[in-house]
Amino acid sequence: MRKKVVVGNWKMNLLRDDAGHRIGQLKELIGAKCGTECDVEIGICPTFLSLATAVDASRGSLIGIGAQDVFWKESGAFTGFLSASMIEDAGAKYVLIGHSERRGRFGKLEVPESTLGFFAETNETVNLKLKAVLGSSLVPIVCIGENLSEREAGDTDRVIGEQMAGAIEEVDASDLARVIFAYEPVWAIGTGKVCDSVEANRVCGVVRQCLPESVRDVIRIQYGGSVSPANAQELFSQPEIDGGLVGGASLKPEDFMQVIVAASSV
Ligand code: PEP
Repeated sequence: MRKKVVVGNWKMNLLRDDAGHRIGQLKELIGAKCGTECDVEIGICPTFLSLATAVDASRGSLIGIGAQDVFWKESGAFTGFLSASMIEDAGAKYVLIGHSERRGRFGKLEVPESTLGFFAETNETVNLKLKAVLGSSLVPIVCIGENLSEREAGDTDRVIGEQMAGAIEEVDASDLARVIFAYEPVWAIGTGKVCDSVEANRVCGVVRQCLPESVRDVIRIQYGGSVSPANAQELFSQPEIDGGLVGGASLKPEDFMQVIVAASSV
């Protein structure tokens, strides 16, 4: 039985005080509902600058803190980047890799062609980041998902297959066991258009089939894309969906708590 895992992605939101305050509120809500044990693993990924504050605020709770990105080199002349060991050193537990808002063009934001390099995560860079993170104690959360035109062209499974093959190339099956994958259809992220739960379950099954047989049944696969208190239980009751990566709804501790409870009751 895979333990459900629900992780909030706070994206580029909240200054440090507010981040610490909301972690404190969530800590109280979790404590009141679950005490010191919970059948759901819980994480929050604030901005890099709020990592230390969030780690402090989460002490003594069941909340693990995560970063939203990482660079694959350990140190050196890489202005503006952070390595896995730096994120580990800040006290984090998780790190997101390959979020669609870092792959190529933002799904929702029109940016000039000349800025695309800034968001230029590819399957190869995801693979480099995954290998670097597996050399640390961090738990990688690797995001994959098709965009709207790929879905409309009937290309979803091919895109997922390519993203998965690229991400896990040359990674040992034994190392993969601690990786979490997040199926996040780009068209469902931040749009309020949640993927139908049966279809989300089907694609999470496709993701699972891309994994080596020896670890296929133990690896957790989350769904992400407009998860809310209203749809979480339906999504999390699907057999292939082992929890959620939650954006907007994770910013409000009460809403995020309801999403956690939905994962716990299925
Ligand atoms: C996300 O940031 O990964 C995400 C799924 O966002 P939202 O829940 O807001 O769609």
